Amino acid sequence: MITLIERASSFKDRVAIKSDGKNYTYNQLLAQSEHVSAHLLQDKKDLNLARIAFLVPASFSYAAVQWGIWRAGGIAVPLCEKHPLPSIQYVLEDTEATTVIYTEAFEQLLSPLFKSTNIRFLKYATITPKICELPKITIDRSALILYTSGTTGFPKGVVTTHANIEAQITALTTSWEWNKNDHVLNVLPLHHVHGIINMLSCALWSGACCEFLPKFSPKAIFDIFLKGEVNVFMAVPTIYFKLITYFNELPQEEQQAISNYLLKFRLMVSGSAALPVSVLKEWKEISGHTLLERYGMTEMGMAISNPYNETRRPGHIGQPLHGVSIRLADEKNQIVTAGEPGEIQIKGPNVFKEYWGKPEATEEAFTVDGWFKSGDIAIFDVDSYQILGRNSVDIIKSGGYKISALEIEEVLRTHPQIKDCGVVGIPDLEWGEIIGASIVIKSGKLFAEDLTSWIQEKLPAYKTPKKYLFQEDLPRNVMGKVTKNDIKKLFI
Ligand code: ATP
Ligand code: MG
Repeated sequence: MITLIERASSFKDRVAIKSDGKNYTYNQLLAQSEHVSAHLLQDKKDLNLARIAFLVPASFSYAAVQWGIWRAGGIAVPLCEKHPLPSIQYVLEDTEATTVIYTEAFEQLLSPLFKSTNIRFLKYATITPKICELPKITIDRSALILYTSGTTGFPKGVVTTHANIEAQITALTTSWEWNKNDHVLNVLPLHHVHGIINMLSCALWSGACCEFLPKFSPKAIFDIFLKGEVNVFMAVPTIYFKLITYFNELPQEEQQAISNYLLKFRLMVSGSAALPVSVLKEWKEISGHTLLERYGMTEMGMAISNPYNETRRPGHIGQPLHGVSIRLADEKNQIVTAGEPGEIQIKGPNVFKEYWGKPEATEEAFTVDGWFKSGDIAIFDVDSYQILGRNSVDIIKSGGYKISALEIEEVLRTHPQIKDCGVVGIPDLEWGEIIGASIVIKSGKLFAEDLTSWIQEKLPAYKTPKKYLFQEDLPRNVMGKVTKNDIKKLFI
């Protein structure tokens, strides 16, 4: 039985979702999702793991469609609202989707596919009230295919079961003390674990309210905060950065009003990419909150988190969440000596089932004794984990040293004229790799020579960038993550 949906019946007339200026109750969500199931099932008794893709804006309809697919026995494949048609087509072909549910807003985008494929295109507006007998779903069934963000390569389809999802939800709802009085503002896309699991599913599991922002803008976010209902907020570091920049330009009275509301929040979280200490500090000045930074992946939901009730360490990701086992291992998958860097490896009911259609990639992703290899390097420092970066792009191998790009970025960000930066390894015959830094300037002029002498006083020579590049902005994917391979290309 899908517990998330079963629990909803006990929340009855509580508001589950606020979107398009309307409140929708848990009972309405259950009813509408049943109508979706009935339309999908037609004369069948069970969708039997058919992949049902959907392109629906983040709203009540989104949740109704997702639950409707699950209740009919299908695997839900959320599509990204911002993706161009070829990326959408890739997902449809890769998952061999049988049906696409879409709303009016996406009709034009999808229309070239209507005739060229034998996929069924079901317009959301044509789903009318209809009931039917629903199949019994066991929790070991595959439930969801989410694509990784594509930060380091081509996105991979990650299959999680209902049991995996339940474990991911319970780890967060217990550790972060979610409860039915919570009201979260969702500003993230829902085709990614951060939005669909950490926000939408945790809120609905708890009987809380999930409000959707119609269109992203810092002003729209602050306007909703000022209504005084929201008490939980989660975002990626780039969004906090945008909020800070906007806030700093507001008149003082407006700043004061916003800060007063933020102070009353219960929980503010950052994740999906390393949170620069400068952003953490500036947000604390604005909101009074030390952002709770956590670490996770599409493949496992959240795994490591700073504490909810105790002190949060800037630049650290905390301790394993309830039910998750973590170890740091070397290249031979042996546990490293205490205090040494190693790859984060994970075991637990939260860990995904497989990469869709890629048995070899799935096999390669696990050690022989069943630990999932994250590809992220961390150290354990006194009482918590600290991320050094992704082995593939952030750990620079230069002259026999392994250097963390994130550490150098943190130092560069303390320069008064640097707004943002991305540090990469550039292939080099003599050193293996040399360090390159792409810099975004706040204002004025800055030259490579200035930075070379400035950083020499802050870092040992082997950790200093040898090449600088000045950019208007860093290249990012739809999740706001810096795509380092794109920066690398600019140096080569
Ligand atoms: P792809 O796997 O396609 O290259 P991706 O790894 O960015 O993309 P996601 O599953 O969305 O896809 O992101 C997980 C990754 O995000 C982690 O492996 C880690 O590198 C990074 N990450 C998540 N949280 C943090 C954090 N708090 N600090 C640093 N990195 C983080
Ligand atoms: Mg990844």
